[in-house]
Amino acid sequence: MEDRIVEGAIVDEEGARPGYVRFRGSRIVETGGVGTASAHGRARVTPGIVFPAPVNGHTHLGDAASTREPPVGPLRDVVAAPHGMKFRILHETPEPVKRRAMRQALDRLGREGVASTIDFREEGAAGIRSLRRAAERSPVRPFILGRPLVRPLDPRELDEVVRLADGVGVSSAREESPAVRSAIARAVRRQGKRFALHASEEVREDPSTYLRPRPDLLVHLTAATPDDLEAVREAGVTVAVCPRSNALFGRRPDLLALQRLGVPTLLGTDNAMFHAASLFRELEFAYVSARLAGAPVRPEFLVRAACVTPWAWLGHPERGRIREGSGRYALAARLPADDPAYQLATRATAHLIFHPARGVRAVRGA
Ligand SMILES: [Zn+2]
Repeated sequence: MEDRIVEGAIVDEEGARPGYVRFRGSRIVETGGVGTASAHGRARVTPGIVFPAPVNGHTHLGDAASTREPPVGPLRDVVAAPHGMKFRILHETPEPVKRRAMRQALDRLGREGVASTIDFREEGAAGIRSLRRAAERSPVRPFILGRPLVRPLDPRELDEVVRLADGVGVSSAREESPAVRSAIARAVRRQGKRFALHASEEVREDPSTYLRPRPDLLVHLTAATPDDLEAVREAGVTVAVCPRSNALFGRRPDLLALQRLGVPTLLGTDNAMFHAASLFRELEFAYVSARLAGAPVRPEFLVRAACVTPWAWLGHPERGRIREGSGRYALAARLPADDPAYQLATRATAHLIFHPARGVRAVRGA
């Protein structure tokens, strides 16, 4: 089989640099500086940027069943359990319809080369099963943080949710008692899985509430102060931010503080009822909105949040590296090699992205 060389730039765990990557089948067999590719064997050369497949750091794919414009007003009215619009829709929509909507949302992610999504699945064991089925033939593997529904906790339900899912994602420390959170965290740890929650989204919460028991992932922190974010970093907890979803309700994560403090950060698209689950649209908005707010962040920080940090969080840091021997999780984009992280953050769209290891133009359908 003819080798394929993508030459221009590489963006990965080590940052952005000019270079080329040579693919043979699904494996990277050579990388190097621009213009230094070995002349051995036949190779087709495509100009572009090679980078690790992104991971969506926070979704609620179950919401995809509704695509209506969300009302202007407090977030609470829309997403509060159990009577907000979101839970009414989840409750009233038949499972096959929700499953089809989740499959379509996964397709959207797959078309952009997204390899996984860290999803909060709210509807107990049934919700987890439904998403697993929706993802059966999808190239996108959901990492499912399920949610037990019964309060006080039913140990059997909790055990089932933890067993079926990859972990548990609860609403927030304000909505769950410390006893409930501790019991969930213990059950999750026993099975070697993950514990996540939303924190300081609408109003500031004290870090001592959401850091105890220690979670593996905190979502939003839009109302957190830089001191709070420092406490999060000290606790070694990863943060997922969702700038488009926050902006819809007048909020903004402090991306500059997260970058400055070196908090491990993921980028997510949040509720699928509000936005298409497009991580590249999220990247562009994150970059532009930070500049608009007078607090610009480096595009390298954002691309890292989409393509590198989530792999470390998922326990596969090697997938965030572009080097010889890897390749299955490498993507390429037909974009100029100047300031490559800027290109990926602001110019990448599905039709420019391809999977060089598969030797086809589109990621989907390979
Ligand atoms: Zn969320």
